[in-house]
Amino acid sequence: MGRAALVVHGGAGAPNQEEHGERQAAVDRALAAGWPELERSGALHAVLAAVRWMEDEPILNAGIGACLNSEGEIELDAGVMEGAQLRAGAVGAVRDVRHPVDLARAIMDDGRHVLLVAGGASRFAREHGVETCDPSVFMTERQLRNFRREGVDTVGAVAADAEGRTAVAVSTGGYTFKLPGRVGDSPLVGAGFYADDAAGAVCGTGHGEGFMRLVLAHLAVVELKHGMGAQEVAKGAIDFLRRKVDGEGGVILVTKAGEVAAAHNTPFMAWASRTD
Ligand code: ASP
Repeated sequence: MGRAALVVHGGAGAPNQEEHGERQAAVDRALAAGWPELERSGALHAVLAAVRWMEDEPILNAGIGACLNSEGEIELDAGVMEGAQLRAGAVGAVRDVRHPVDLARAIMDDGRHVLLVAGGASRFAREHGVETCDPSVFMTERQLRNFRREGVDTVGAVAADAEGRTAVAVSTGGYTFKLPGRVGDSPLVGAGFYADDAAGAVCGTGHGEGFMRLVLAHLAVVELKHGMGAQEVAKGAIDFLRRKVDGEGGVILVTKAGEVAAAHNTPFMAWASRTD
């Protein structure tokens, strides 16, 4: 039906060329991890595999290597959505779930709720066989050094498969020195991510409060639905982010037909794509 495509990003907040290069290499590895899943099992499996991979890359702000909040603790957000039935699952402010994107998927599959946070999300993980861990597992020397350095980032992936199914997954530590309990756009359907087989899938990265106020991922999918071109939608979303709320960040997107696009208004955004 369509052309299979996978797009992966590792955040739009790299502070310099050297770190950008390291992030780009990690993103390239995630693309390689997700692609076989796209061919074998479809869009949803591909985005989950790519994001799960990036949760284990210490250079990226998700899972291991996530940034610290103002208390020196790590609180993780993640989300997933598939565009066939608009099913979604998400977690906010979890501290002890080894792969937050796995928990988001379990919540989506369970189907009763879309978003669980903090202790209730951890409890759901334990009760549904999703791996938990000691929070110290996520701490890295690099993030301890960066404790007070401003940094925002997220990892995410969007995909369309040959059957025309679309999906998006996202995972993040949010940003450095955020207040405890702060939940960003990444686990909020429509703000940080959205997928609809009628149009495509979108994933954002950047200062989450701006994405939340504009409900930007959903807006971009609606524009795709109205027939705007992929690159025009990506660039338009980021221009709108700057114009309306003086926001910084980036987006990746894929259309149901497998066209890919990305845009950012930060100096760097590590991203990679592959199409059939
Ligand atoms: N959007 C994420 C948040 O605000 C951070 C990022 O993508 O850079 O939590």
